[in-house]
Amino acid sequence: MNSPIEEITLDGGWLCLDFANTVSTRKPAKGEEYLNTWDDFARWVRRLGVLPEKEFEAWEKMPPGDMDEVRALREAIYNFFDYYAKNGKVHPAHLETLNGFLHEVYMYTCIKMTDSGLQRGIFKKTYMEKPLWIIALSAESLLLSARLPRVKACDNCGWLFLDTSKNGARRWCNMSTCGSQTKAKAWYHRKKELESGKGG
Ligand SMILES: [Zn+2]
Repeated sequence: MNSPIEEITLDGGWLCLDFANTVSTRKPAKGEEYLNTWDDFARWVRRLGVLPEKEFEAWEKMPPGDMDEVRALREAIYNFFDYYAKNGKVHPAHLETLNGFLHEVYMYTCIKMTDSGLQRGIFKKTYMEKPLWIIALSAESLLLSARLPRVKACDNCGWLFLDTSKNGARRWCNMSTCGSQTKAKAWYHRKKELESGKGG
C-alpha cells in the first residue's frame, strides 16, 4: 500500500501551497501528519518534480536532513497564506518568519536567464536543502505576485489553494472530496430545518 504522501490530492495549484497541504486537514486544527520521515519528504519531492529527475537521483543519495526544519518551513508558509486568505492582509510576524527562511536561501541563489525572462534561481550544485529552498522561493514568487489575493483556504478542510476560476468564487480545495461534502451537509441542514418547520 502506498503511503498517504503518495496519494494525497494536489489541489494547491502552486508548489508551496501543495507543500502546506501535507497534513490530512487544517480544520478545526492540524490533522494527521503526512511528512513524518525524510523518506516521506523525498517521495513528495519526486512526485511534485521539485528537482529534475537526474538531480533528484543524486539528491536522494545524500544524508537525510532535519524534518523539524522541513515542517517549520511548511508551517511558516501555511501561516502566512492562511492568514492572508482569511484577513486579506499580511501578518508582520508571519512575514518575518518567512523572511528568515528566505534570507538563507538568497545566499545560494542567482539571477538566471530562462525562456520566460530573468528569474531568481538556485546555483547548479545539489544541496541537501535545495528542495526546501525551491519551495521557499515558490512562496516568495506567489506572495509578490498579483495572484496573492486568489489564495484561499478550503471551507471544508482548510487546505490552501490558488483560485484560478473566472469569478474567483471557488470555495473548496477539491469539488469531489470537499465540495460535495459541504453541499451534502448544507442540503442535510436545510432538510432538517424544513422538517422542523424553521426553513422556508
Ligand atoms: Zn478541502
